[in-house]
Amino acid sequence: MRLLALLILFFCSCSHGTENLYERSFYSMGSTVELKFYSPSEELFHRIVDACVERTREIDWLFSNYRDDSILAQVNRNAGVTPVPVPGEFLRLVRTSIRYSELTEGAFDITIGSLFELWRAETKAGRLPARSRIRDALGCTGFQKIKIDEVKSQVLLDGDCVRLDFGAIGKGYAVDEMVKIARENGISRGLVNFGGNIYAMDPPAGRKSWDVGVRKPGSGNKIISKLDLMRKGVATSGDYERYFEHEGKRYSHIINPKTGWPAEDVTSVVAVSKSATEADVFSTAVSVLGSRGAKMFVRKDKSLGFLVVGKNGEERSCFGSYKCP
Ligand code: AMP
Ligand code: MG
Repeated sequence: MRLLALLILFFCSCSHGTENLYERSFYSMGSTVELKFYSPSEELFHRIVDACVERTREIDWLFSNYRDDSILAQVNRNAGVTPVPVPGEFLRLVRTSIRYSELTEGAFDITIGSLFELWRAETKAGRLPARSRIRDALGCTGFQKIKIDEVKSQVLLDGDCVRLDFGAIGKGYAVDEMVKIARENGISRGLVNFGGNIYAMDPPAGRKSWDVGVRKPGSGNKIISKLDLMRKGVATSGDYERYFEHEGKRYSHIINPKTGWPAEDVTSVVAVSKSATEADVFSTAVSVLGSRGAKMFVRKDKSLGFLVVGKNGEERSCFGSYKCP
C-alpha cells in the first residue's frame, strides 16, 4: 500500500472560451498514464494523446529493464565486454543521470541494478542477502563505471556485473516528454500524471494553480497537505507498492548505493521541482539521504521543495518551497 499518494483535486469539465478540457488514460510500463489537456478541439487532443502513447513506447524500448530487446538490455548484456552503440536519446538520459548522481553525492545512481537485483532475488527466496554478496554488488555499483564515447555514441559498463536501472528517473522523464509534445501542439494548460509522477502545466483559465492533494491511504484517505502547482513537477518515493519483504519486515525498494542496504531513515518523500524528471530523481535521493539531503538540496536550489515523512510514519518535515500545513 502506498504510504503517501498524490491525488488531483481540482479538475473541472468546464470549457473556457474556445478551449475544452479533455481527458484520456492509457497503460504503459506497469502504470497508468493520465492526461488532462485544455484543447481547442477533441480531434487535436486525441492526436496529441496518440503521439504520447507512441512516445512512451519509444521510451520503454530504450530504457525498460523488463524487455530483452530494449537498448538498456543490450547495454547490460554487454557489460564489461564491449561498447554498445546507442541512440542519442539514450546517451542524453545517461548523461543527465550522471549529472544528478554528482549533484546528490551518489544517492541517486542508475548503476544500482546489481544491488537491486540481489535484494529482489534474495528476499523473494525468503532470505536477506549475505554480507559478502552485498559487498560484491557494491563493487558493481558507482556511476563512474559508466564509460561514454560521445563521438561514436556508445556506452560501456566497466565491469561485467554492472547493471543500469532507470527505475528512479524513467517515468518522470516520460512525463516531461509528453508535456513537450502537448506544448509543441499549442497546448499550454494541462496536467500529466504517470503513476504518481506529475507535471502541472498552466492551470485552467481563471485559476491560479492545479491543486494536488497528498493523501494518506487508509484512515479515510486523509489529505495531509495540498500543493498548488503551476509549471512544476511532483513525485513521491517511499516504501509503498514496491518493497522487499523478509520475515514480516518491509524493506524499501530504494537502495543506498553507499551501503548496499535499503533506505531506512524515512518512510516517504514528496518532491516538488521545476520538472517531473527532477522531482523523480530528488524524491529517490532524499529517500536515501533523509532530511539532511533535503536541507542540502534546497540550499542549492530554492525552487525545490520536500515533504519528508520520518521512520515512524507520523513525523513530517517540510523543506524549501514545500510549506507544511
Ligand atoms: P522511485 O520510486 O522513483 O524512488 O524509484 C525507485 C526505483 O529506482 C527502484 O525500484 C529501483 O529500480 C531504482 N532505484 C533504487 N534505488 C535507487 C537509487 N539509489 N538510485 C537510483 N535508482 C534507484
Ligand atoms: Mg524517483
